[in-house]
Amino acid sequence: MPKVRKIPERMCIGCQEMKPKKTLIRVVRTPEDAIEIDRTGKRSGRGAYICPSRECLDKALKGKRLEKALKHSITQDIKESLLEGVDRP
Ligand SMILES: [Zn+2]
Repeated sequence: MPKVRKIPERMCIGCQEMKPKKTLIRVVRTPEDAIEIDRTGKRSGRGAYICPSRECLDKALKGKRLEKALKHSITQDIKESLLEGVDRP
């Protein structure tokens, strides 16, 4: 394995900055059309990435950016799970 590897980066849909993929929360629209929070980063489907911060999450949810990124509506349950997943030590 090479010692220097490029860290995969993705854009946060809240602040729209590129961040290392591992530090972001991935939300995925599965092939079954369900919206899930993907904690492993390995689920198949269309994904959107958000920083684990309340600020970015608010921007992503209030601006309907998450809906647009996934081309699917986001249920209150999903929003609450996302909010629970941030701002925790
Ligand atoms: Zn962000």
